[in-house]
Amino acid sequence: MAGTADFDLYRPSEEHDMLRESVRSLAEAKIAPFAAAVDEEARFPQEALDALVANDLHAVHVPEAYGGAGADALATVIVIEEVARVCASSSLIPAVNKLGSLPVILSGSEELKAKYLGPLAKGDAMFSYCLSEPDAGSDAAGMKTKAVRDGDHYVLNGVKRWITNAGVSEYYTVMAVTDPEKRSRGISAFVVEKGDEGVSFGAPEKKLGIKGSPTREVYLDNVKIPADRMIGAEGTGFATAMKTLDHTRITIAAQALGIAQGALDYAKGYVQERKQFGKPIGDFQGVQFMLADMAMKVEAARQLTYAAAARSERISAGGKGEDLTFFGAAAKCYASDAAMEITTDAVQLLGGYGYTRDYPCERMMRDAKITQIYEGTNQVQRIVMARNLPQ
Ligand SMILES: Cc1cc2nc3c(=O)[nH]c(=O)nc-3n(C[C@H](O)[C@H](O)[C@H](O)COP(=O)(O)OP(=O)(O)OC[C@H]3O[C@@H](n4cnc5c(N)ncnc54)[C@H](O)[C@@H]3O)c2cc1C
Repeated sequence: MAGTADFDLYRPSEEHDMLRESVRSLAEAKIAPFAAAVDEEARFPQEALDALVANDLHAVHVPEAYGGAGADALATVIVIEEVARVCASSSLIPAVNKLGSLPVILSGSEELKAKYLGPLAKGDAMFSYCLSEPDAGSDAAGMKTKAVRDGDHYVLNGVKRWITNAGVSEYYTVMAVTDPEKRSRGISAFVVEKGDEGVSFGAPEKKLGIKGSPTREVYLDNVKIPADRMIGAEGTGFATAMKTLDHTRITIAAQALGIAQGALDYAKGYVQERKQFGKPIGDFQGVQFMLADMAMKVEAARQLTYAAAARSERISAGGKGEDLTFFGAAAKCYASDAAMEITTDAVQLLGGYGYTRDYPCERMMRDAKITQIYEGTNQVQRIVMARNLPQ
């Protein structure tokens, strides 16, 4: 599935275009019909998971060496974008499978990769990422969850909060303090399994949007795991967690981009149908200018997201850094702010109808909001960008 994109121009290749077409038709046929019900009932989008697994689109980033599709970063973005265009909750399946497993791919031993990436690639297991805690959000290094060495095991105790797909995922990358004196350099990463004794979950959070994506606390109560479940060396967990976010913020940008495109597409169709003052409202220049601004912002978000994906891919292929930290944060920040504006404008273009759940734009507006918050709020993205201005 890996395409040969022209990464210098940030332009998708023919293979990427074909991938987009096939994901779009799958998403429209098998995911879109359930999106409103998934939101209304705040239930896991099982139909989407089944369709994604059946078409090998649930974790396309897993390298071929471990049984995966071996998709490049741009192909992964396109999958997430097209699923988010119809259902943001469902797009968290491929996105969080990448977020949860990338620490293993970036820093894990061959044994960890062989053990955990195969079931993920096959669709037998999903992967979550556990960094945040009740008192450690933006300041993630202030975490309290501890991992204490006990012979050839570690014992984990603590609470992780806001964990996407918690309870559904089989595997969890958990960041925990192994040396409290060293702050971020005293944090290590581990793979924890759902079935490990002492692992349990809180009640699902009642959220504004992405209601189909379960968000729960993960409780670690004397969870004893073999020491070889540590990802990388002791004390490198925070660095791995941050390196992961450099790559995966681009997938949140893709999610925002997809939501925004979905809202724009719906509004474009609506203004041709809806008549006021004896003609379609799309004939009014005031409406046309809004659509022009929306389309301009979607395209700007897309270019920045694909440029960031190209950098992510070049690094994964062993290339140079090329400001990935800046580009990942910029893409996530810009695309999510744009998605919030575009979905709000889409609701506006539908008038009173846009404000009801009979139409999809209000769901898209609620779903867009989370993209400004998770994987670091947009204030945090601005801090990251300011510290990593392009050379
Ligand atoms: C639905 C959902 C799913 C999530 N999924 C996951 C997941 O799977 N795994 C995971 O680990 N985490 C997850 N998160 C957590 C998410 O990443 C955090 O909520 C986010 O990082 C913000 O942390 P916080 O909520 O503690 O807010 P706080 O850090 O308390 O921030 C509150 C406000 O203060 C601002 N602020 C904080 N510090 C600064 C500063 N230095 N300068 C300026 N402003 C600042 C913030 O921008 C924000 O506006 C999820 C969250 C949600 C809501």
